[in-house]
Amino acid sequence: MKKIIILTLIILSLSSFAYARVSFDMKLSAPFNTVEDRDSYSELSKRFMDGFGAYRNRGHLHSAQDIKGDYGEAVYPVYDGVVVDIWGKFPYKTLAIMHTDNNRRVFYTSSVHLGEAYVEAGDYVTKNTKIGRLLTREEQKRAYYSKVHLHLEFRKSIINKRVSAKCYTIEQLLVYFYDTQPIFKKHMN
Ligand SMILES: [Zn+2]
Repeated sequence: MKKIIILTLIILSLSSFAYARVSFDMKLSAPFNTVEDRDSYSELSKRFMDGFGAYRNRGHLHSAQDIKGDYGEAVYPVYDGVVVDIWGKFPYKTLAIMHTDNNRRVFYTSSVHLGEAYVEAGDYVTKNTKIGRLLTREEQKRAYYSKVHLHLEFRKSIINKRVSAKCYTIEQLLVYFYDTQPIFKKHMN
């Protein structure tokens, strides 16, 4: 009995950790400068496609917010930070940035489906740094995607890079990622 109680307590504390509402002290901006007002959530959300947790054909759940863009459109960071890594083969080229909020809380964003990256690991970037671009019409065709978009993840760490298409439950997703929309909603105008 005692064991069961202890086990239950451990599970409860782990799950409350996973679900805990994080609070960052920061203001985010849209990753595109063609959004009418880059600081406005309602403007950005007009471009939202598939969201966090959406079911995928191969069985996994979506780790990001997909945001509609134009062919070859320039991509910007949602917050200042340092580029920590770039990985992935076409059409999954991924650029990860480490961000630190005003309370020194660290989180990461990864921008997936870049046609090209304009910065390197170690580069300091601001919200106005062009970090890369989306796929061109040609690249889009090659990738068999119907709509050109940015797959934007809010990550708790980048230790497990390849985990994006490997989470099958929301609980698994929340080990590695933050739910995207609440973060945007809370930290934009
Ligand atoms: Zn996506």
